[in-house]
Amino acid sequence: MSAHVIDGRRYARDLHDSLTAEVSSLVAQGARPGLATIVAGDSYPAHAYERRVRRLAEELGVHYVREHLPRDVAEADAVSVVGKLDADPRVSGILILRPLPPQVSEAALYRALDPLKDIEAVHPVNVGLLTLGRPRFVPSTPAAAFHLLDRYLLESGQTPAAVYQSSNVVVVGRSANVGKPALTLAMERGATVLSCDVHSYSSGLLYRHTRIADILVVATGVPGLIHGDHVKDGVIAVDVGINPVVNPGTDQVRLVGDVDFPSVAAKARAITPVPGGVGPITDVWLLRNTVAAARLQLSVSTARPLLEGLSLLTPDSQLARAGTG
Ligand code: NAD
Repeated sequence: MSAHVIDGRRYARDLHDSLTAEVSSLVAQGARPGLATIVAGDSYPAHAYERRVRRLAEELGVHYVREHLPRDVAEADAVSVVGKLDADPRVSGILILRPLPPQVSEAALYRALDPLKDIEAVHPVNVGLLTLGRPRFVPSTPAAAFHLLDRYLLESGQTPAAVYQSSNVVVVGRSANVGKPALTLAMERGATVLSCDVHSYSSGLLYRHTRIADILVVATGVPGLIHGDHVKDGVIAVDVGINPVVNPGTDQVRLVGDVDFPSVAAKARAITPVPGGVGPITDVWLLRNTVAAARLQLSVSTARPLLEGLSLLTPDSQLARAGTG
């Protein structure tokens, strides 16, 4: 079997084109979207991602703010930076890049986010809404993985709902920001869903499960974890992993996925490449969520005098604001 290679860059361009028009319409209403990123320390992937989204924001005319915190930043100071961005009317969406230094808890920063600016859906209220199937924002990486799958299925003449409802979807990796929301998105589509993590690997169960996948989504950060022997003929393989690997003999860094491309492509019906698969769509989806946040805040600010008049919105009531989603 020779796999169809799913072109994430083409889908990303289409999303980019539709966003350009949306940003212009918001600017015309005096509500220019704004994106803020927080990076702590010197992680290579975090800085590479920050540069990519900054470039995209600039291309699209989205206001951009970058907060680079020192590696030894105190948790309380990092929380205040989140608070400052929450209060900044030019900022519609906030992205907190991982990894954070060990003294700063992800949960503390996520809780400090204004849920209306939480474009990666990491605040507990937004996690809950997503899990209930009423997402305010869908986190960009799993959203990208399923956008790519939906489009591939449509373009290859299949009915996505029928395919999902008759498929085993196996998600390898169970992080809060990628694996878990990917499971939710697969369940929402009616798939039979199985979740594996590092314990599945240690116990020897992992490859038994990957071999039953009709659709396999891999997000572990382990280069080449999945080989051709670990999948069945006709699988659709979505490789979320982005792993910088230094070429021996040179200092050149190249990116590889969690899936061994040649051996899996030899058996798959369709496969995403790395780079050029999930990554480019993720970047644009983040900007898409920023634009959606700007729209949401515009509608809340329009409704605010009415809500305050009815005592439905008090200035410090985040839950009341969260309930507008
Ligand atoms: P993470 O470290 O937070 O989580 C990794 C998950 O993989 C955990 O659930 C862990 O138990 C599981 N795991 C680790 N080793 C395993 C093994 N041997 N077998 C089975 N499961 C194993 O990572 P993350 O943030 O979810 O990111 C995962 C990968 O996706 C990384 O390569 C990251 O760079 C990449 N990523 C890509 C995008 C994109 O846009 N394509 C965005 C975010 C993250």
